Amino acid sequence: MAVVLEEKIESIYQQVKARNPGENEFHQAVKEVLESLGPVLVKYPEFSHHKIIERICEPERQIIFRVPWQDDKGAVHINRGFRVEFNSAIGPYKGGLRFHPSVYLGIIKFLGFEQLFKNALTGMPIGGGKGGSDFDPKGKSDNEIMRFCQSFMTELYRHLGEYTDVPAGDIGVGGRELGFLFGQYKRITNRYESAVLTGKGIGWGGSLVRTEATGYGAVYFVREMLKVRKDSLEGKTCVVSGSGNVAIYTIEKLNQLGAKVVACSDSNGIIVHEKGIDLDLVKKLKEVERRRIADYATYHKDAKYIAGGNIWEVPCQVAMPSATQNEINGKDAKTLVKNGCIAVGEGANMPTTPDGVKVFLDAKIAYGPGKAANAGGVATSALEMQQNASRDSWNFEFTEKKLDEIMTNIHTATYETAEEFGASGNYVIGANITSFIKVANAMVALGL
Ligand code: GLU
Repeated sequence: MAVVLEEKIESIYQQVKARNPGENEFHQAVKEVLESLGPVLVKYPEFSHHKIIERICEPERQIIFRVPWQDDKGAVHINRGFRVEFNSAIGPYKGGLRFHPSVYLGIIKFLGFEQLFKNALTGMPIGGGKGGSDFDPKGKSDNEIMRFCQSFMTELYRHLGEYTDVPAGDIGVGGRELGFLFGQYKRITNRYESAVLTGKGIGWGGSLVRTEATGYGAVYFVREMLKVRKDSLEGKTCVVSGSGNVAIYTIEKLNQLGAKVVACSDSNGIIVHEKGIDLDLVKKLKEVERRRIADYATYHKDAKYIAGGNIWEVPCQVAMPSATQNEINGKDAKTLVKNGCIAVGEGANMPTTPDGVKVFLDAKIAYGPGKAANAGGVATSALEMQQNASRDSWNFEFTEKKLDEIMTNIHTATYETAEEFGASGNYVIGANITSFIKVANAMVALGL
């Protein structure tokens, strides 16, 4: 039975690969989920009957479009825009937009696939989608960013709607970009449809805590994992990769809970500051002045900048990858474990390669995969949609408490599912199975 089942799942995976050639990140994300599903198919034979796995791996809709824009010198550029509307069984498509030169269909599909399961874990009524462009915002002026966002939205708007598809930010898309995108949506449609985008500014329909949510949520998840092990974040030495929105608010919450962050990074290099990262300086450099993390060392003589350095070689007890996909490989994972790392909470999406995940699971450290640990961002997006729908705005404390409850519930649900399926302490299995069952049940109920 088990062998037949494994062969069946392997054959579905091979079909997905053949239908989506060259999309390695998507293959990786699919494989990781499918590998957890054997026991689910035994318990729920109806999912096989309805071909749920095959259906769930095929996006409902994939949109690719041209984005022409003019730079400040008047030269014309062409980028490619994407929106993959993965699954709307439990709510409108929901997921961020990524602007980064590495973006192609395979990246957006992997992110959309992860998003679908992550969103199901939040307990909120949101389906899964993701979008973006191979546009590189680095070094562009505000006006160039505005013209790009306007051109991007001039095509995308026709696919959006608060009951249809609701984007937000991701790498390269923050408050500034969302403002330009929302402005163009409003201009074209003549509708102040606040809940069509999340991550909006506080003065125009945004929610308090949305900016902090992904980082804060990831730290809450780690706090819960440690609690099960009768441990806490108090006094722990931490390393947080990245220095963007997720990393900044991960560091902030770690500090609030009594931990010390000794290193952070950007794509050029790493900063090691044994005294503890000066978060106000990181915020100033990254959020306000849009500079490189290398400049940190010019303000603190006791901090060390290592160009091209590997942040996972900095010894720590808690590692929080908060930059991008596949940033921790098998070797890095071994280094972390060897140096005494006891917990990993993924603020980024799929930051650990499959062999890295295996190292963490074999070492039995507390490993919180992204789709569970970083769900706080999109969960707070759903809270923003709730506030927009009721034309209300909640205060910081109330919203943060809701975020904390959601993360604690995700931890409990994933922990208990892992127990139920005989994989105690394995949050990968817990997250994949909990979310798959939720989406699969809805798909069965809604028919073909
Ligand atoms: N891009 C974020 C994520 O990976 C947030 C998505 C959203 O808020 O819709 O979950």
